[in-house]
Amino acid sequence: MSAKKEEIKKGGLVDIFDLKNVDIHIGEIVEEGEEEWEPMGPHPMPRIATLRDWDFRLLNRYKPFYAPICDMCCLCTYGKCDLTGNKKGACGIRMDAQQGRIVLLACLVGCSAHCGHGRHLLHDMMKKFGQNVPIDFGPEVDIEAPLTRLVCGIKPKTIGDYDQVFSYIEEQIVQLADALHTGQEGSYMDFESKALHMGMLDSLGKEAADIIQIACYGMPTSLPGGGPDVPLVDVGIGTIDTNKPVIIVIGHNVPPAADIGVYLTENWLDDKVELGGICCTSIDTTRVYTKAKVVSALGRQLRVLRAGIADVVVTDEQCIRADVLERCQRVQAPMTATNDKAMHGLVDRTDDDPDKIVDDLVSGRVPA
Ligand code: SF4
Repeated sequence: MSAKKEEIKKGGLVDIFDLKNVDIHIGEIVEEGEEEWEPMGPHPMPRIATLRDWDFRLLNRYKPFYAPICDMCCLCTYGKCDLTGNKKGACGIRMDAQQGRIVLLACLVGCSAHCGHGRHLLHDMMKKFGQNVPIDFGPEVDIEAPLTRLVCGIKPKTIGDYDQVFSYIEEQIVQLADALHTGQEGSYMDFESKALHMGMLDSLGKEAADIIQIACYGMPTSLPGGGPDVPLVDVGIGTIDTNKPVIIVIGHNVPPAADIGVYLTENWLDDKVELGGICCTSIDTTRVYTKAKVVSALGRQLRVLRAGIADVVVTDEQCIRADVLERCQRVQAPMTATNDKAMHGLVDRTDDDPDKIVDDLVSGRVPA
């Protein structure tokens, strides 16, 4: 043993600059005086297999029931494979595992959409308001983020704290999506366990996104001005006054619709223009702009578009009909797509002069 190692072993002090071939890793830095809010549980930010035993216990008690919507598998170029009568696919998978696989795939779609939206929202909000927007929902809300606390073991104080939460969800989504690949998981029980993990992440991502928007837009909370005294919202296509210009927003991501509400308010247009929405964006818009109306849910989107009540349609993300552009063109309502996840083949005019864009739309030179 070298003299230095001998010295260290004996507990002697060594000058750090004398050390060679030593890696020093500094983990999370805990600020002095940081609030001790609860002892850390055993599994903060669980991975795929962390809660597997518990999942299996649940799945053995409440067994999955499958009613296949399709007997074929077309998920890789070995196939397509006919799995009827519990035949194996070319990769060896059987119908039960294939059904668990499809369940996991469906959960992946939902979880990715909500997490993708939450991350996008966080980026936008940090750009607009900075990362230090406080998460404070007033004295009546003791536990501001139940799932974040439970799953991640953190008590978020600002919206910037959600960066690590989304990083965790995103990594887990990639690992779970990997399990769907041909030649990976082969047990229906494990697919179901993974689907439960994905469902947990989905709920966490939705909580995160809502907390961020509540904090940034001052949506109703128990703070003064919030609580049960918020105004009632007009709901239904019949509440829209078609004598006024009508803007219809569609989707899940509130910032574009909130910006429209702010613009109408600042320019004294809130009594002259109708702002209505379809799906989640409409509900969230009413939490920011009290004159917004909920025109319909997704299921009646076609009816609203065909009715031709919209003078302008603004889409963001999720729950937008794939043929929205065609539907808007039929009633000559210029459409604006504001989100890169649903661009509908349109030209990207993000950096163009707004007056030029408006002129093109008003003159009908471009439909959207
Ligand atoms: S994943 Fe398996 S069952 Fe599906 S198409 Fe490929 S080989 Fe066939």
